[in-house]
Amino acid sequence: DITPDIFRRMMRNVGKVIVTEKDWLSELDGVIGDGDHGVTMEIGWIAVGKALDAAPEDRTIEAICKRMAKAFLDAVGASSGPLYATAFLRAGTAVGERLNLDASALANWIAAASQGIQDRGRAAPGDKTMVDAWAPAADAAKASAAKGASSLDVIDAAVASAKDGMEKTANIAARRGRSSKLGERSLGHIDPGAASTYLTLRAMGEAL
Ligand code: ADP
Ligand code: MG
Ligand code: MG
Repeated sequence: DITPDIFRRMMRNVGKVIVTEKDWLSELDGVIGDGDHGVTMEIGWIAVGKALDAAPEDRTIEAICKRMAKAFLDAVGASSGPLYATAFLRAGTAVGERLNLDASALANWIAAASQGIQDRGRAAPGDKTMVDAWAPAADAAKASAAKGASSLDVIDAAVASAKDGMEKTANIAARRGRSSKLGERSLGHIDPGAASTYLTLRAMGEAL
């Protein structure tokens, strides 16, 4: 099971991977957006890391997620700020009083994050946003957990579906966010938010 300490380790690894892949994310955003997605995500995840360091007393994953939400919201001015803040808040609430996450709680965490992003940003699958990676990842995670898979298998399923969803955003004309101004001209390019979603889930799995 995922303990709060393991969860912290997973979140720290996300920060590390996002910082490593920052230039790629900003390059993707440079093509169909304003070129800052690597920077905005780096700012958010560094703030999350600092918040985790400052609060070793958090004993539940719910408390950690709430702290992450606040840190991300306060640090990030871009559209991804409130989206991830809502994701963390909802995911933490989904975990609730539970101390450790088993495979099905992990799937619920991913699904609640995905739903939070959809509720906050009013984007649906097919709009060419991070939702096109989060939503299939959540579906795959839930299906895997329902079959009795391990946490590692659940996250692996989520990562594979997020990667597939990310790649498929290249076939979609944007309907939400900054890139919607490009419409058809966004075809052929993957969505930066979908790319950072894939990295986020992959980094969570690597640290498990
Ligand atoms: P900004 O567009 O403000 O510069 P970022 O560059 O950090 O913000 O993030 C851009 C990403 O945010 C997009 O690639 C897309 O995946 C995601 N995004 C933008 N608007 C929405 C929305 N309404 N719902 C879901 N995701 C969104
Ligand atoms: Mg941007
Ligand atoms: Mg911006």
